Amino acid sequence: MSAAPVPSADNPLYAYDLPPRFDAITPAHIAAAISDLVARQDAGLAELEAGAAPTWAGLVEPLARLGEPLGWAWGVIGHLLGVRNTPELRAAHETVQPAVIAAGLRQSQSEPLYRGLLALRDSTEWNRLDDAQRRIVDLGIRSAQHSGIGLHGAARERFNQLEATIGELATAFANRLLDATKAWGLDLTSADEVAGLPPSLRASAAQAARAAGHSAATAENGPWRITLEGPLYGPFLEHARRRNLRERVYRAGITRASSGDTDNQPVLERILALRRLQAGLLGYASYAEVSLARKMAENVATVEHLLDELRAAALPRARGELAELQTFARAESGDAGLELAHWDVAFWAERQRERRFAFTDEELRPFFALPAVLDGLFALARRLFGVVVTPADGEAPVWHGDVRFFRIADQSGAPLAAFYLDPYSRPADKRGGAWMDECLHRKRRADGSVRLPIAYLVCNQTPPITGGSGGAAGAAAAGDTPSLMTFREVETLFHEFGHGLQHMLTTVDHADAAGIRNVEWDAVELPSQFMENWCYHRPTLMGFARHWQTGAALPGALFDKILSARTYRAGSAVMRQLHLATLDLELHHRYVPGRDAVEDIAKRVSVQNAVLPRLPDERFLCSFSHIFAGGYAAGYYSYKWAEVLSADAFAAFEEAGLDDDAAVAATGRRFRDTVLSLGGSRHPLAVFTAFRGRGPNTAALLRHYGLAS
Ligand code: ZN
Repeated sequence: MSAAPVPSADNPLYAYDLPPRFDAITPAHIAAAISDLVARQDAGLAELEAGAAPTWAGLVEPLARLGEPLGWAWGVIGHLLGVRNTPELRAAHETVQPAVIAAGLRQSQSEPLYRGLLALRDSTEWNRLDDAQRRIVDLGIRSAQHSGIGLHGAARERFNQLEATIGELATAFANRLLDATKAWGLDLTSADEVAGLPPSLRASAAQAARAAGHSAATAENGPWRITLEGPLYGPFLEHARRRNLRERVYRAGITRASSGDTDNQPVLERILALRRLQAGLLGYASYAEVSLARKMAENVATVEHLLDELRAAALPRARGELAELQTFARAESGDAGLELAHWDVAFWAERQRERRFAFTDEELRPFFALPAVLDGLFALARRLFGVVVTPADGEAPVWHGDVRFFRIADQSGAPLAAFYLDPYSRPADKRGGAWMDECLHRKRRADGSVRLPIAYLVCNQTPPITGGSGGAAGAAAAGDTPSLMTFREVETLFHEFGHGLQHMLTTVDHADAAGIRNVEWDAVELPSQFMENWCYHRPTLMGFARHWQTGAALPGALFDKILSARTYRAGSAVMRQLHLATLDLELHHRYVPGRDAVEDIAKRVSVQNAVLPRLPDERFLCSFSHIFAGGYAAGYYSYKWAEVLSADAFAAFEEAGLDDDAAVAATGRRFRDTVLSLGGSRHPLAVFTAFRGRGPNTAALLRHYGLAS
């Protein structure tokens, strides 16, 4: 093979076997490197097509090697687009994206390669391949089929066009959403307008105001800026006493990216239409059928059965919760005729929560300073899985001063992996949400050595307060308040770390089945949601929840309230997820462009799943980036599907005895040796069964939510 590029000192996008040179990569590197890498990949492909033997060593291994340089560089660029977005970077990305997509299609649609894989599956070597190798070949064949390998002439061309256009539309969707989010802000100047906002929110809002040019903004005197970023938007709706301001902010949120230059409505309609056309070309009735052909769930009916089962338990509960909240709000407000509107629900739910559990996110924040939370998380990883995490800041270049670098080793000291952590919200140039992505995947090199995996863990939690005066938790001095996390932000960190563990603790040597690779989408959230369960385990949480200034432990009574709060309005929370999952499935299965209106589907699904009538001007789909700019198309149900798996997996620890250290360690080891180690090398049902000794069921999930009948 001649395709491996020579690492060039001039262009850091060639250094594909190493951690990326984030201190050196600029948009100017992109065009030259990507064009060249595309050309090299094409040349290598031609070589393989001309003479590859239909064997594992002759075809599959060289193919994996061939895709690596471009795949790595493209991954780095995609990562930067998410965490250090600039107009120059976007422009450079857009310039080369069509060429990269085309190169991917040439490979996935290569008939000689496809025939080679089929020949390998029919050969005598097949019986000597291990499970991972067979799954890789099977996936390769199915993926080729989904890439239009069976299409010829004009149909093939049409399919490729659709693929490229959908890629562009997805990027446009994400960019418009980011622009719309950045463009909207509400500047508040009077004490009356910020009535009810807790100190940390005022401090964050003052920081947002300073970032928007009000250089003298302070937490005490304002001005305060509310934006659509998670750490400001959600808490504002929970705490702002001024109902008309809540309504303005809420409406801005649900109409985000739905008008003017950033209108995503035409974009998403086109995406849906083109996906349906693609599905038709492949011989499927809908895009949902294409999606489910590569999932753990068998088909649309299987998924709908699960959603129905959960809906039957959750919907009556959610209706009861709303009625209860209405009664509470009327009594508290003294307005016997009060009808709860959408912008009231979070506010009154938070008041009812305070009343019932007598604690707020704000009381908890001081106990969840990021450094202490990390210590607790790493101690848990050691206890459960026998791995040791140590800071390694400075050992790899980072893309922003706030980013940390860590290494993971076995208890014996043997290095296993490394990861970056980019914890804070950075609205100016960072995408919202939280995610784990692979930087380098594990693989065994040709010389027998193993390249260890590296992960990106990205969150959007409350940043530390620097500069200005005041701070969360009544810090006396100016500046220097660490990131004080909400409990939800703690759960999110545990969640992403769970994804990271599956990527990093894999023992699979075949690159294409290592870590989260080759894991069906609906099983991918198993380790992440599994890790969230530990936030509700008393010794685990009490072990790290200490006041950042006094060192005092979290009061036991507060922990009890966290536990009770877990099932607070659980029916409503489950229904929210079922609503989104159903919406996604309907749009990708039953919606027929030209015949139906997207709005009608949204309305119909809302009637079936929402407890408050949908607002006529609601345009939530315009910001539903999971299904239009992420990988969740006809796959949003995966969250609930995987939650069934993760709750049931955690139940194995409950059954072993959560306070029995030896039992927990033994069960943790088994979890590491199955779910975390095997990755995509086996079917997820086989992996789950290897850990649990049986298939999954919904009992543990319903019990954890207090929804069991
Ligand atoms: Zn996740």
